Amino acid sequence: MGILVILEQRGSVGTSALEAASAAAQLSKQSGKELYAVLLGKSLDAEVGKLAGFNIKKLFLVEDDALINASNEAYVPVIKQLAVELKTEIILGSATTLGKEICASLAGRLGVELAQDCISLDWEGACKVRRPIFAGKVIQTIKIGGPIPHIVSLRPNVFKVARDGDMAPDVEKRSMPQMSLRAKVMEVVQATAGKVDLSEAKIVVSGGRGLGGPEPFKLLQELADSLGAALGASRAAVDAGWIKHSHQVGQTGKTVNPDLYIACGISGAIQHQAGMRTSKLIVAINKDPEASIFKIADYGIVGDLFEIVPMLIAEIKKVR
Ligand code: FAD
Repeated sequence: MGILVILEQRGSVGTSALEAASAAAQLSKQSGKELYAVLLGKSLDAEVGKLAGFNIKKLFLVEDDALINASNEAYVPVIKQLAVELKTEIILGSATTLGKEICASLAGRLGVELAQDCISLDWEGACKVRRPIFAGKVIQTIKIGGPIPHIVSLRPNVFKVARDGDMAPDVEKRSMPQMSLRAKVMEVVQATAGKVDLSEAKIVVSGGRGLGGPEPFKLLQELADSLGAALGASRAAVDAGWIKHSHQVGQTGKTVNPDLYIACGISGAIQHQAGMRTSKLIVAINKDPEASIFKIADYGIVGDLFEIVPMLIAEIKKVR
């Protein structure tokens, strides 16, 4: 019984996992249900210390060579088996690309309800969640019912990392159950979207067709570097071959939810908004005062990005 939170790791436990643990701890407090966690990978002993303060009753550490590279194929049967064994009522994960895939597979295999990419999570006799739908135009509120476990994935950068004390969880080490994997992930080549992870970045600087070519992305990278930001792009810029797809923000790219999103030369098509409209503060630079991006921007600068961006960089460098 209780709640099981899936802690994602890429060599180390990242912020999205800590956010999920925090949200899970809060839900455990509200519902009175015990909190369990599962961490899969290899040589993760050093990561356990990071999981103190979330009131996790037990952390299941499952280690195997087959789990080094995260994969749906290897992870899902292990988590499913654990959830069934514990008679888990609620499974929480991160709404990262991998997390959404794992949660969807689990829901399919267990034949249960799933709410993906949630931006709030509360207990009202059942999990009550809010999630953006229709490319972010509508926020849906759902109370999850049906057979247990109910599965919820949480959008990164929405839930704050909050620890309550420093009590470390009890750790139960498990080996991977015997299973024949149809596919094994042999290697993961990081298609980096720059120095800062785009999906989890606190600040994102994005460029669109208004940049006019690949060269000006160097200017945006300079702005991003001055702010410690990740570099994003519209699909028009990606389709033109000016920047890699790993930078694309939007319906067919990444969903970002930073504290600050700076859109440069991006018109603000609905498909682009789908990936960034929940950003906490949106700044748009566009020479067209009628551009749709201004409808959702908190601050709009009407002007030529090639004049404004260098001025911004100079001012930020002065302040820093
Ligand atoms: P444009 O719409 O051409 O806008 C360029 C803007 O730059 C204009 O507003 C112009 O005024 C401004 N500009 C030009 N020069 C300057 C200058 N010197 N200074 C300042 N401003 C300037 N798009 C995405 O972004 N992400 C997605 O994931 C995505 N998925 C899609 C999925 C589907 C199924 C479909 C049909 C479309 C999708 N699109 C997506 C495409 C989307 O509809 C738009 O075509 C795209 O977002 C437009 O990119 P843009 O804003 O860079 O280009």
